[in-house]
Amino acid sequence: MFTISNGIILKGQDLVPAKENIVVDDGRIIEMGKDVLEGKTIDVDGAVVCPSFINGHIHIGDSIIKDEGYGLSLSEMVKPPNGVKHKALANADDDELISAMSDSMWDMVYSGTTHFIDYREGGIKGVRLLRKASEGIPIKPIILGRDDSFYGEDPDLKQVRTAVRRLLKVADGIAPSGFGEITEDVARLIVEECSKHNKISSIHVAESESNQTESIEKSGRSEIEKGVLNGFDQLVHLTNPKNNDLELVSNSGSNAVVCPRANATLNVGVCRLNDMLNLGMKPLLGTDNVMLNSPNMLRELEFTLKLMSVYYKDYIVPSKLLQMATTNICSHDVNNIVQKTAINEGNCAEFVIFKSFSKNPYLNICNRSETKNILYIINKKCIV
Ligand SMILES: [Zn+2]
Repeated sequence: MFTISNGIILKGQDLVPAKENIVVDDGRIIEMGKDVLEGKTIDVDGAVVCPSFINGHIHIGDSIIKDEGYGLSLSEMVKPPNGVKHKALANADDDELISAMSDSMWDMVYSGTTHFIDYREGGIKGVRLLRKASEGIPIKPIILGRDDSFYGEDPDLKQVRTAVRRLLKVADGIAPSGFGEITEDVARLIVEECSKHNKISSIHVAESESNQTESIEKSGRSEIEKGVLNGFDQLVHLTNPKNNDLELVSNSGSNAVVCPRANATLNVGVCRLNDMLNLGMKPLLGTDNVMLNSPNMLRELEFTLKLMSVYYKDYIVPSKLLQMATTNICSHDVNNIVQKTAINEGNCAEFVIFKSFSKNPYLNICNRSETKNILYIINKKCIV
C-alpha cells in the first residue's frame, strides 16, 4: 500500500484538477482525499497525476521498417498486398518481428502508455506473434486481426466467415484495411461476426481524398457512410469527410480514432478535430504505423495541439485533447474489451505522474512534457 501525496490529480472522465492524495493498494485506488495517508508516502511535490495513455490506433508490426519508403504515396506505402509495409512483413522472420514489437512496446511503456489497439497484419499467426512479444511487458495490447481472404472483388464469403471465426478465437476483434480492398458483403460479415462474439469491428475510412472519391464513384457512398451504415464499432482516420459524414458518425454508435501525425507524414490532410468536438464526439488519438511515427503519445499530443491552431486559426481545448489520449475510451468501451479506467476511487491504478512546469495541468502535459519528465508510471500492480 502507498499514498501519492501533494499532486494535482486529473480526476474522473473529464480530467478535473484536484489537490488530493491517492491511496493505492494491490493495484487499486482505494481512497482519494485531501488528508488521506496510508502506507508508504510518495510526495510528488506538485506534479500532475494523469490517467495513463491509450494509443487508439497503431500497427506495431511495421516497427521493423522505421522510416522506409518516406516520400511514397499512401497506397505505395501501406495498401495490401503490395505496399512497402506488406512486402517487408511477408519477408520478416518471426524473431526479428517479435524483438522489434517488444522494443516498441517498451517505448510506449516509458512514454506513459498502458493500453494500445493494434491493427495487426498476418492473420492468426500475426496476432499470436504480438501476444508473444508482449509477454512480461506492463502494457495491455488490444489486438484486431485481419486475413488475406478478405480481399478482392469476388471473395469466397464462406472462406471469409471461417477465417473471421478462427481469428476471433485469438484476437480482440477484426480490422480490415479499408473499403478500397474489401467488398461491403465482407464488411457486413465482419461486423456481424464481431458483434455475435462480443468483439470489436473496426476499419480505416477516408484517410485520403482519393479513397473517398473512388468510393463515391463506385457505389455512390463515401467510405465514412459505408463504415457507419455497415455498423463498424470503430472508424479510423476520417481525415477527408464529405457533406454530412461527421454528423453521421456523431449520430451513430461508432468510435472515431484520429492519427494527425500519420496523416501529415503521408500528406493526406488534417483531421477536423474541432468540428468533431463541436458535434459532441469523443475521438481517440492514435500514432498509426510505427514505420511512419514513434509510438509516443506525448509527441502526438503536442503535434495535434499546434496543428489544430494552424488549421483552424483557433484553439483546440487542451483538456478535450488530453481526454482523447486517456479517458474518452472509458465512456465508449465496446464490450468492455479495452478496460481502461479514469482516476476515481475503486478503479485500477493506471496513471502517469508528470513533473510540473506550469499552472495549466493540461498544457503541462500536451505542450511541455517529454518522456524524461515522467516521474512514475503506475500500472495496476507495477510501478515503472
Ligand atoms: Zn492504420
